[in-house]
Amino acid sequence: MELVIKDLHAQVDNKEIIKGLDLTIKTGEIHAIMGPNGTGKSTLAAIIMGDPKYEVTKGTITLNGENVLEMSVDERSRKGIFLAMQYPNEIAGITNADFIKSAMQARLEDGKHISLFKFVREMDKAVRELKMDPDLPHRYVNEGFSGGEKKRNEILQMKMLKPHFAILDEIDSGLDVDALKIVGENVDNMRSDSFAALVITHYQRLLDYINVDYVHIMIDGRIVRSGGKEIIERVDAEGYDWIKNELGIEEEFEATRRIVLGSCAAKVEK
Ligand code: ADP
Ligand code: MG
Repeated sequence: MELVIKDLHAQVDNKEIIKGLDLTIKTGEIHAIMGPNGTGKSTLAAIIMGDPKYEVTKGTITLNGENVLEMSVDERSRKGIFLAMQYPNEIAGITNADFIKSAMQARLEDGKHISLFKFVREMDKAVRELKMDPDLPHRYVNEGFSGGEKKRNEILQMKMLKPHFAILDEIDSGLDVDALKIVGENVDNMRSDSFAALVITHYQRLLDYINVDYVHIMIDGRIVRSGGKEIIERVDAEGYDWIKNELGIEEEFEATRRIVLGSCAAKVEK
């Protein structure tokens, strides 16, 4: 299966945020997107999942040739697209077990049912593998969870739902070192011919545990560099300035800075 994004442009409140983005992800692959804050990484994730807040003004997203942009969020989920959100929501009054069970049920054909025995066994196994509180299935979704627990809970959902395309938006933020290792290893263990992941992060630490095949750098709404793991080390050592320099973005920044400094100086002189 493949998810193909071509020349994607998207805006929110008339502000263009995604500015011509191309990306192809095939099952069997794990991709990472790195980039400074505010470059549109979460926006991209939200658009792939179908958040109506964002308006796609140009370009396409297809899943095995089918137009994803015309699908409802539910349809996207049924086709195997999954998003672990940067800021997961709390759902009052619904337990984790019920939430996951109904999401799994929604993906089955009419008339088919999840075996409760299998479900409980699988959920217990996933909870153990993520070293989470054994009570977790019976607690309300994300209610009173710490930041790290919420992130782990997103990974629990992923493990249970077994999506084909998992987009993981900064699942490393709020995790301590031990949790980072557990989450990273659990993601890495998902690798299979029918699974692909897009791991969004701006730190290299998580990628110590996830063996990524491709790394993309996103700056200002576009993917500006793609390569292998060597990119992670360079970002870790040097940040993003080398790419900005290579692309001439720094000069733009510098020019703006000079104008701003210039006008401030002029004000002072008066
Ligand atoms: P990242 O995940 O890479 O840090 P985001 O996708 O969250 O970046 O945000 C990209 C840009 O879009 C930011 O400049 C942010 O301020 C802007 N943005 C996001 N939502 C809105 C909104 N509702 N209205 C205006 N600007 C927004
Ligand atoms: Mg973000």
